[in-house]
Amino acid sequence: MSEMSDENTTNDDGARTYAGGCHCGAVRFEITMPPPDKVFECNCSICAKTGWQLGFAPQASFRLLQGEQQLRDYQFNKRVIHHLFCGTCGIRSFGRGLGHDGAPWISVNLRCLDGFDASGLPVQRYDGASL
Ligand SMILES: [Zn+2]
Repeated sequence: MSEMSDENTTNDDGARTYAGGCHCGAVRFEITMPPPDKVFECNCSICAKTGWQLGFAPQASFRLLQGEQQLRDYQFNKRVIHHLFCGTCGIRSFGRGLGHDGAPWISVNLRCLDGFDASGLPVQRYDGASL
C-alpha cells in the first residue's frame, strides 16, 4: 500500500515542502523544512513593523519559482540581510542573508506559506535588533 500523500512531499527526516508567496502572486516559492514547531518573532526595526513570523532554513532548501524580476531589495544597518519584497504588492515573503557560520540562509515569513496556520504555535523571541 502506498504511503504517498497528495498533500505535500514528505522526506525521511520529516521535512515537508511548503509553497508560498506574496499577496499578488507574482512571487512564488517552495521551501523544504521540518514542520515549524514554533515561530520566531524578531524585534529588529523592520520585522517589528511588518509583523513577521519567521522561520529559518538553509538557502539550498529554498526554490524561487517565479518573481525574481518583481523582487525589490531593501537593506539597512549593516546591510548583511536582503529584505526582499514584491514590487507590486509590497509583501515581504522571504529574505536572504548569511548565518553566523557564513552559510547562506533564508528567512521565510510563515504567514506567507499557503494554508499554514501558525496561530497555535509557541512564539520565541529573536533578538535581531542586537545583531
Ligand atoms: Zn506581490
